Amino acid sequence: MCKLNCSCPNRQLFYYLILTMSENCLFCKIIKGEIPSKKIYEDDDVFAFYDIAPQAPVHFLVVPKRHISTIMDMQPTDCELVGKMLYRAQIIAKELGIEESGARFVFNCKADAGQTVFHIHLHVLGGQVMGWPPFPKD
Ligand code: AMP
Ligand code: ZN
Repeated sequence: MCKLNCSCPNRQLFYYLILTMSENCLFCKIIKGEIPSKKIYEDDDVFAFYDIAPQAPVHFLVVPKRHISTIMDMQPTDCELVGKMLYRAQIIAKELGIEESGARFVFNCKADAGQTVFHIHLHVLGGQVMGWPPFPKD
């Protein structure tokens, strides 16, 4: 049995599994209404709400109601669902007035991209000019 503060692969896997389980998922709780959110849209498949810490004048998230941990876990049967997320994202972007100015549609996936909530979510950011590439230059 490893010690509490050890960082062995077994313990890392254990925490990764805990983090990615739907039972503990922040966005599953938001979808169920167990945690409040500033909801923008909901249907049988997708849910959209404002990001709690906006990184641009317009910043909202579109999530599938069904729990999928990361984009790397997508299955062929998820294609229509993810398409519905993207479709809804651009409808909402238009409603929020950023059709002409444009927006960034982003899925962060796992550690290198900085994913912090392990239920896939499409970030939509707009309302100001953004930089590219999205990582610091040396
Ligand atoms: P990511 O870092 O790509 O996993 O994005 C997670 C996003 O969820 C971040 O932009 C957070 O600000 C956002 N977030 C975390 N908790 C909440 C919440 N309770 N309501 C709305 N957005 C949240
Ligand atoms: Zn979830």
